[in-house]
Amino acid sequence: MRDFITILNPVLPSQSHHSSALLCNRPTPRDKPQTAFTGPPWQLQRPPGRVVKAAPPDHHPQAHQGRSAPVADKVPQEDGEGKGPQLERYVRDDIACGFEECQLCADFPGFKPVLPKRGYTLHTKFAAKEGHWLVIDTNVVLHQMDLLSALPLALPIIIPSTTIRETRHRSLPLHNRLQQLVQDEERKVWVWWNEESRDTATFQEEREEGKEGPNDRNDRAIRKTLQYYSEHLLSSAARPPQLVLLTDDKRNRELAHADGMLAVSTRDYVDGLDPKEREKLVDLVVGGVDEIEPGERRGRRLYDEYLPMDVLTAGVKTGRLYQGHFNASQYNYLEGTVRVPSLDKPVLLVGRQAMNRSVDGDVVLFEVVDGLIRAEALKDDDVEDDEGTGVDDKEKQKLAEEKMDVEDETKRKPKDVQPTGRVVGVIKRNWRAYVCHLDRSSLSAAALTSLSQQTVFATPLSRTLPRIRLRTRQAPQLIDQKILVTIDSWSPNSKYPDGHFVRALGKVESKEAEQESLLLEYEVPYRPFGRAILDCLPKEGETWKVPPKSADSLEWRDREDLRDLIVCSIDPPNCQDIDDALHARPLPNGNIEAGVHIADVSHFVHPANPMDSEAASRGTTVYLVDKRIDMLPHLLGTSLCSLRPYVERLAFSVIWELTPDGEIVKERFVKSVISSNEAFTYEAAQVRKDNKSLNDPLTNSIRLLNSLAIKLKEGRMRAGALSLSSPELKIHLDSAESAEPIDVEQKELRETNSLVEEFMLLANISVARKIQEVFPATAVLRRHAAPPKTNFEALNDLLVKRKGLELDVSSNGALARSLDACVDPERPEFNTLVRIMATRCMLSAEYFCSGSVSKEAYGHYGLASPIYTHFTSPIRRYADVLAHRQLAAAINYTSLHPSLQSKAHVDRILNNVNKRNRLAQMAGRASVEFYVGLALKSRNGGKTRADAFVIRTFRNGLAVFVSSLGLEGLITFSKDTHTFDPENYSIAIPSPKGDVAVAVFDKVVVEITVEKDANTQRGKVKMVLVEPVSSVGL
Ligand SMILES: [Zn+2]
Repeated sequence: MRDFITILNPVLPSQSHHSSALLCNRPTPRDKPQTAFTGPPWQLQRPPGRVVKAAPPDHHPQAHQGRSAPVADKVPQEDGEGKGPQLERYVRDDIACGFEECQLCADFPGFKPVLPKRGYTLHTKFAAKEGHWLVIDTNVVLHQMDLLSALPLALPIIIPSTTIRETRHRSLPLHNRLQQLVQDEERKVWVWWNEESRDTATFQEEREEGKEGPNDRNDRAIRKTLQYYSEHLLSSAARPPQLVLLTDDKRNRELAHADGMLAVSTRDYVDGLDPKEREKLVDLVVGGVDEIEPGERRGRRLYDEYLPMDVLTAGVKTGRLYQGHFNASQYNYLEGTVRVPSLDKPVLLVGRQAMNRSVDGDVVLFEVVDGLIRAEALKDDDVEDDEGTGVDDKEKQKLAEEKMDVEDETKRKPKDVQPTGRVVGVIKRNWRAYVCHLDRSSLSAAALTSLSQQTVFATPLSRTLPRIRLRTRQAPQLIDQKILVTIDSWSPNSKYPDGHFVRALGKVESKEAEQESLLLEYEVPYRPFGRAILDCLPKEGETWKVPPKSADSLEWRDREDLRDLIVCSIDPPNCQDIDDALHARPLPNGNIEAGVHIADVSHFVHPANPMDSEAASRGTTVYLVDKRIDMLPHLLGTSLCSLRPYVERLAFSVIWELTPDGEIVKERFVKSVISSNEAFTYEAAQVRKDNKSLNDPLTNSIRLLNSLAIKLKEGRMRAGALSLSSPELKIHLDSAESAEPIDVEQKELRETNSLVEEFMLLANISVARKIQEVFPATAVLRRHAAPPKTNFEALNDLLVKRKGLELDVSSNGALARSLDACVDPERPEFNTLVRIMATRCMLSAEYFCSGSVSKEAYGHYGLASPIYTHFTSPIRRYADVLAHRQLAAAINYTSLHPSLQSKAHVDRILNNVNKRNRLAQMAGRASVEFYVGLALKSRNGGKTRADAFVIRTFRNGLAVFVSSLGLEGLITFSKDTHTFDPENYSIAIPSPKGDVAVAVFDKVVVEITVEKDANTQRGKVKMVLVEPVSSVGL
């Protein structure tokens, strides 16, 4: 059951209470008078104007009652899904039709029509002189979005709110794309709020055969829109454009025809377009694959049909079936797991039958098949080849290699029994556009030159996906391209899913194609900010300044003047988005005042406006090696909010009184104005601090901060905080244009890095305590759960056997101490390696809503803090923006926006932010990998020798870690001349001088080259062992 907010949300014009909710016609500029029409949804819980007592649908007042004032009437409404209690809905008389010639709607405030008098005419079927407009139904949005986005710009389109509301319910990504379509200024797209308009509001009908189903009702609601427009337009134009319903639902078309309306399927519509347009669009029509290989369709069924919905629902109720997200294996798309809270271990799904057409990310229903352990289940696998469409030899070999790894692991840990399952239904598909390349082996020689439509296979970049079958006329042009392909359907009779070609990204291995495919692969929203978003920025632009201090200035209201404080910022070199600045000064009582000043982003980003919605949906700024994809428009991130030196800036400050030992005596939170005295790099701040000849207030401030930071860190370490490690690399680019990396080095960490870190942690903890205290149900917090002890079993077994060392994982403090003790006096790097490996055994930290988790589970394991949040980087993290809003309300600076009082809403936003964060990290890593690959390729004729540590041994090879490059690689032996000792994690490799043993934690020398990977078509690192023994030819 959805909550009140969600139900109201999609039905109100121009509302936008969170990331995906903004769907309005052209935005009204900010300075134009705002009407109730564009107000926030919250107001409409108490609507403006007259409220009529709930009336039954058949009594609902008809016709226009004068359109001058916005009037909202309440009428009862069925839930969109046709179940649940009666809800109230407001209908209005002031909704504009969007027609540029309309006299009836011309007076509505803010009316900016986009529908032209002459409709689209370049169509053989709808060739009337006055042209036509399209009205689209939900299924067209759900299944033909790529086609919709590619329709001619001049084609006017009406989207009924029924369509929007249903789309939002079915798929948020598609809802977002629909929003982009509506806001695209080059298009003539108009939203008709049919559910909200008195003229077209539609109610479920009681019929002889029972209640009208929700789908029938929705279809009828959309047809009513066509009917309404046909009549409404006649009052302003003698020969208005024709209205054409675009729908792939045959019954809906028949009903429309019966009522004298025009209706057409997407295929027929595209077929009737001007040849030039048709050629462009024909590949995009979904459903084309239905016609291919009819023999196969009729042939044997390869998969079980999904169970009917009522059986699934009953199965979940009785506990026989489980529901969860399907996670495909990173190595093999024919294997995956589903985690469900009620089962201790993730459930394994192995092989095509068990996975039953699940794709990574789908929400599936499955049953547990008992009594199988991993190794047995794996033998069930069916990585079979089938003529011309199966995995190629290399891929087969690769899969075989990876499977062998797992088998070895199983033998070592027979107790690791995992339940296995079988999918019986899919609740929600996670299908999206995937980066692929055409599989050459699926093309015949003739096909390479033929321009006729043919069936081909696209291989996704991601190993978690099966190949996708599609029809295209462009095969010859696409052969060396990265392409975007969407999955449309997957029939039980077909081994592979069917999809369609969306667009080409560019030539394989070109930097542009690689970069864009990386962004697409990790779902990073990278479109430039649209007009509606930029309109939310201060109109002064770059010239915006903190106004002079005065009593009636909005900026100065309730703000503390901290411009005289000696504040500075410390960041990496070339940092443009400066989120934070610091200060410290001695107090007369011997204590120290220290302050953290954070960019006051929430002063500029108001809840629920288009900019806020976009930031919420982006969730985070994404940093790639040569590109930054901002969460907020450039003007804010790198200018107005950035705490640059020598200019006044708005800040949100946390100010403490601390003892010299770092104990907090007092703390307060205040909105402020600061003027930073200097923007240091870590290095410059370090040099300044260490320069004994300097004794100015700024230098002393850094020294005070540093001495406190040391105490704070000691305190954290005593409490059990972990000092973990992951290699951080810095890529040097010789120039921004050529972007050829010239070198890779590890980032150096100085005392000043730790200084900043400690104060940011302190600020985050203080803010977390405060917002949780004031808003215990909805505070935005961050936690890091303790890892299950079993996560460390493998690492500990390695340590004991190879080094006689063991990690104590009984608590974070114990782990920290035992990590400190994990040293090899002869190899200082060993400790770092163990920390990296230990970090991989941990869970990742996540944002959560305080009311959704029990208080015992708030803790941050790595930081050893009972409570934590993110407050210090609001320019680049959306969670911080929310924390700022909650803190501002907690100190009574503003009231708390209603959205932040809804647990369900906060949960929803944070789920998205968590996902975006994860993907952003992966994108960042992939970008580093890509550039490390380029750097290696250009070095010394493409060959690099480097020290490496062995981190795993397999029957058929080794995994090594090259810390200088942050690179992990596999060294495989294809001949069977070596001896593998799994008990001791050791491999004996033959050499002219006899067998040489290489084992985990040994230091070796490897030679690294870059080869083109058959699967990803991307440069792939290849390693061979050089010392202590050469693996060439083995
Ligand atoms: Zn009108």
